Amino acid sequence: MEKSLVLIKPDAVRKNIIGKIIGMYEENDLKVIALKMEKITEELASKHYEEHIGKVFYKPLIDFITSGPLCALILEGENAIKKVRDINGSTDPKEAMIGTIRNLYADSNRENCVHASDSTESAKREISLWFGKEYL
Ligand code: ADP
Ligand code: MG
Repeated sequence: MEKSLVLIKPDAVRKNIIGKIIGMYEENDLKVIALKMEKITEELASKHYEEHIGKVFYKPLIDFITSGPLCALILEGENAIKKVRDINGSTDPKEAMIGTIRNLYADSNRENCVHASDSTESAKREISLWFGKEYL
């Protein structure tokens, strides 16, 4: 069993599709083991996205991710990290496979509805950051 940290980003919350997105994970045998909704601070946003500091899209990304409430979840299941990223689809919705969350619902390569951990190391870091080490 593996765990992944997922964010349902503010654009998806505004679109009223939290339930549709969680349903897609659940249909694929991923279990929600932690869940919270929050409008996050710039401090948490900058820790979450520290790998992107200095990139051209960094500042607008921070503005976007702090623009309204989001949902943070921990999903658990077999191969959860890869599975969740497959369900999410490519970062840019124009490149996302048909039927993925980003293909179905995302507006742009910034406002792309979801985040998911990309490795076991980032899952550990992100779960600790959002929920605490006791959730690892
Ligand atoms: P992913 O979320 O698919 O792991 P990245 O880690 O590369 O993608 O980027 C983090 C987030 O930053 C993306 O989900 C998206 O919201 C934003 N982003 C990435 N690349 C761009 C870009 N070229 N222009 C605008 N926003 C971007
Ligand atoms: Mg990423």
